Amino acid sequence: MMTAPTPQTAYLGLGSNLGDSLAVIGQAIHLLDQLPHSRVLACSSAYRSAPWGVSDQPDFVNAVVALRTRLDPLRLLDHTQALEKSLGRVPTRHWGERVIDLDILLYGQHMVSTPELAIPHPWLGERAFVLLPLLEIAPGTHVPGHGSARDLWQKLQQKTPQPLQKIGKIAW
Ligand code: AMP
Repeated sequence: MMTAPTPQTAYLGLGSNLGDSLAVIGQAIHLLDQLPHSRVLACSSAYRSAPWGVSDQPDFVNAVVALRTRLDPLRLLDHTQALEKSLGRVPTRHWGERVIDLDILLYGQHMVSTPELAIPHPWLGERAFVLLPLLEIAPGTHVPGHGSARDLWQKLQQKTPQPLQKIGKIAW
């Protein structure tokens, strides 16, 4: 299957902490909008966050977009990985610095579990820099298998508050 029978709304997380991160994220969103059978419906503000997992690296700029797409999840992953490469991403350490990172957070209400793709994204509920921009553009989001994004956000706030700063709109 290359295209889904009906269009789906996928949510994608973007992150960057090398180069002109805000500009690269804008470029990535522009390119996502040009993927076949796809268009960007909404884009969150940009947020600045402290690095997660590996702390000796620059702060990240993060955002979330809603993408209406007929690409099936694996095909969408092929495209987002090609897009990462085209924007200059090179392999680094796990959770290390990168010019651009694109994660498929949600794909409609579908759950996917294959060796190369897990949806909902496994760390979605642990990352303020994903949940807050997601809630900004889709406050009613339900995360299959986990409940409402708002509840996940509140639980995370009680458990491990993570500083996050809204830094403005993204031009794309
Ligand atoms: P990362 O270093 O965060 O870009 O992780 C890349 C790897 O995660 C790739 O090998 C993907 O196949 C895998 N992966 C699993 N689930 C997802 C997802 N929901 N979105 C993006 N990459 C994923």
